Amino acid sequence: MKIQFLGAADGVTGSRHRLDLGGQRVLLDCGLFQGFKLHRERNWAPLPPALTEVDAVLLSHAHLDHSGFLPALVKHGYRGAIYASAATCALAEVMLMDSAHLQEEDARRANRYGYSRHAKALPLYTRADAMKALARLRPLPTGSEQRIGRLGVTLTPSGHLLGACSITVSAGRGGERLVFSGDLGRRNDLLMPPPQTVPRADVLLVESTYGNRSHPAEDPGARLAEIIQRTIARGGSVLLPSFAVGRAQALLLLLQRLRRRGAIPEQLPIFVDSPMAQAATTLYRRHAPLLRVPAAETKRLTDGVTMVETPQQSMRLARSRWPAVIISASGMATGGRVLHHLKAMAPEPRHHICFPGFQVGGSRGARLIAGATEVKIHGEDVPVRAEVSHLASLSGHADREELLAWLHALRAPPRQTFVVHGDPDAADALRLRIKDELGWTVRVPQHGEAVEV
Ligand SMILES: [Zn+2]
Repeated sequence: MKIQFLGAADGVTGSRHRLDLGGQRVLLDCGLFQGFKLHRERNWAPLPPALTEVDAVLLSHAHLDHSGFLPALVKHGYRGAIYASAATCALAEVMLMDSAHLQEEDARRANRYGYSRHAKALPLYTRADAMKALARLRPLPTGSEQRIGRLGVTLTPSGHLLGACSITVSAGRGGERLVFSGDLGRRNDLLMPPPQTVPRADVLLVESTYGNRSHPAEDPGARLAEIIQRTIARGGSVLLPSFAVGRAQALLLLLQRLRRRGAIPEQLPIFVDSPMAQAATTLYRRHAPLLRVPAAETKRLTDGVTMVETPQQSMRLARSRWPAVIISASGMATGGRVLHHLKAMAPEPRHHICFPGFQVGGSRGARLIAGATEVKIHGEDVPVRAEVSHLASLSGHADREELLAWLHALRAPPRQTFVVHGDPDAADALRLRIKDELGWTVRVPQHGEAVEV
């Protein structure tokens, strides 16, 4: 078996692992690099043949750091199928079309205001490219082994996000078996059931996003209620820059529960200003049996919530002076409608900007929660005087204890374990615990490294 780590080997983005097994060539995930410019520039590097010359692509889940490079892959000549769970296929459509739209918008804006270093800014891919990639998606049932060419492939639900799965690839009955954890969810996630465990792996690739951290034990509902009460008491609004898929629905669930409990005022306006979050909410409802939430509650997620439809309505909301709660994307404030709200709200001390998700290093969100007093938005310096916070307890990722618990469930040590999908300190911390507590053979691969195991 040969593995080549083409992304998410020295960071949390750009998940791409090439596997050669049983004479077949498979790409596990095809994610976008995000965050630090150093990483983002990899999206534009010449594509290694190892990436495009594969027989199949297997997708763990729809998050862009796992799926967001698929349109570029197809644009560069990939003509095979892209396999994923049915719910991941449905979410990928929403996410890739939005990603392509943002790429086009960014290029257009950079050209109009001339703040691109390049002579003419080009999108990484267009909506037409995204549609070509989506046409290659093939839904795969979860929980049982499926044949793809000469390989057996099993998708095992991993919590984390609607449709998210770990992937087991085996070379026939009793043959070598590689397990890729994908992103692992939490034991007590608001929306998703805990990740299912995988019984056997000869070679294991495990994520380490929170490999060096434990999530705070705080109740995210209580913290959010306290933030909202305090902010509206001083006449401010709460902005929740949120991932449109998963996190936005968890926030809606939390806000509805707070409202019913009387922990926040019944009449406090709640806005969802993200067409993608609206589309994703519909998909969460359609796939309600995959959630741990009672169906009746899933149905009522948007009761009494205003869906902001047009960009004009969004602009009007950004100018409004009335206290409100605004959920808007993107989750790391790297683009999308949230930027207009951020621009309007950041200079005002009465407002509160609360990030409910993971912030990749180098993103605007990461700089804000680190205490930046100024951020650049659309080429303009915006002072930050609003309160800024991070609701880490709402994370959709297993923390270090939960990662260890998932690993403990394997019946025998893998021959080799690779720690991927973590910032260097997180990946190394998990590596040490696997070595010391489990006694397994484990290491952190380097970006671009190819290994025979
Ligand atoms: Zn993810």
